Amino acid sequence: MRADPDKALVVLSGGQDSTTCLYWAIDRFGQANVDTVTFDYGQRHRIELECAARVAEFAGVHNRVLPIDTFTALGGDALTDDAIEVAQEIDAGSGLPNTFVPGRNLVFLTFAAAYAWRRAIANLVTGVAQTDYSGYPDCRENTMAALQDALSLGMEFDVTIHTPLMHLSKRETVELARDLGGLPAMALTHTCYNGERPPCGKCPACVLRARGFAEAGIEDPLPASS
Ligand code: ZN
Repeated sequence: MRADPDKALVVLSGGQDSTTCLYWAIDRFGQANVDTVTFDYGQRHRIELECAARVAEFAGVHNRVLPIDTFTALGGDALTDDAIEVAQEIDAGSGLPNTFVPGRNLVFLTFAAAYAWRRAIANLVTGVAQTDYSGYPDCRENTMAALQDALSLGMEFDVTIHTPLMHLSKRETVELARDLGGLPAMALTHTCYNGERPPCGKCPACVLRARGFAEAGIEDPLPASS
């Protein structure tokens, strides 16, 4: 399958990182060549879907929501299961935070690739990063390289997975968003693991976001806007 190397599909969650990736993609491929996809995987915080739609509209790109309900059926993690609180500590059994949804990024990117295949879009963009954060194994560079190979082989599709944040710290991600003109859109994003707006400021995601903005010496437009 010959796909258009000038077109890109961004996996947009409505959060800070994927929004930064959207602005990266617009900068690199041009607004008219960028599409976005958001997954409704039964996340507890439905506000994420709303934020993704608002960010896409603000940036002037199309946003398609695709449903995946299997993660909720499986349960057991704090992002899809109402009965589980976000833990501050790493789970001793798995060695991972309880916000880890096993295989989530693999599934997201596989469906994103299927969407891209249908539309002959050669580039996928995702905000995964292996630095500075939770150590989710499906965010690592080796996982993404292997997945790109698998998707290329399995769909006979010359697809490239771009991970512009892979080696950036949170501070550098904030600086990148600023340099790409993406800061105003940050007011529309959602990060808080507790689904609160204004953000709770206490959960691991809020703490990390606040630290990134503080280290970059940039004011986060989100708290002031909510
Ligand atoms: Zn929070």
